[in-house]
Amino acid sequence: MDAEVFRAWMTSAAEVIHANRDYLTALDAAIGDADHGINLDRGFTAALSALNARNGAAVHMTPGRILAVTGSTLVSEVGGAAGPLYGVAFRRAGHALGAATDVDLSALCAALEAALAGIQELGAAREGDKTMVDALQVALRGFRQAIAAGASQDDALSVLAEAASAAAIATIPMQALKGRASYLGSRSVGHQDPGATSAALICGALRDAARAMPLTVPGLAVR
Ligand code: ADP
Ligand code: MG
Repeated sequence: MDAEVFRAWMTSAAEVIHANRDYLTALDAAIGDADHGINLDRGFTAALSALNARNGAAVHMTPGRILAVTGSTLVSEVGGAAGPLYGVAFRRAGHALGAATDVDLSALCAALEAALAGIQELGAAREGDKTMVDALQVALRGFRQAIAAGASQDDALSVLAEAASAAAIATIPMQALKGRASYLGSRSVGHQDPGATSAALICGALRDAARAMPLTVPGLAVR
């Protein structure tokens, strides 16, 4: 996967977050403060602008640089919990890729693991706490196993995306132990976590970008 794929990933992520902005915000209205979709839409829009502003050098930007610029933009543009958490995730992933111009599945897996480690260092959430960590941890476990089993790139990325979607849905019966939703105690049960849902959308965008399929179908929400 070259820089084109990573640029397409960020474009697809921005599109799918935009298409699901109101859905993510409605999920956050139930157990948070109704800003998750608005926050991320603003952040990814700004990230695309930052990537395009460097357009002169765009062809020379490495995959790692594309992710690092995205992460830095999310940190500076997005408030709340999700901005810094996704920001550190993309920055760590970018740094893990280093100067590579072509990224294979195992390098991508290592980068995504670095992203998850960054999220957990910053937010201290563990699996089962009803956060974005749930989607990412389950997705990465499936991705790692698929790669070890010799899956094709498309199959491995499909496992990543589908496992993340299933894990987002699996947050519904959980009680939130981290973040704003944890203030609700047992009243957080019965609602899908917004951050786990956006994480699943971003994983889906990666699969779609690697397939070189433009993501134009609205309503690919994880419902
Ligand atoms: P805020 O809660 O500050 O309004 P957002 O609404 O943008 O921020 O994001 C909320 C999402 O952030 C939650 O649904 C959850 O998935 C994620 N989140 C919150 N706190 C943490 C944490 N400590 N670790 C990981 N993810 C978290
Ligand atoms: Mg919120």
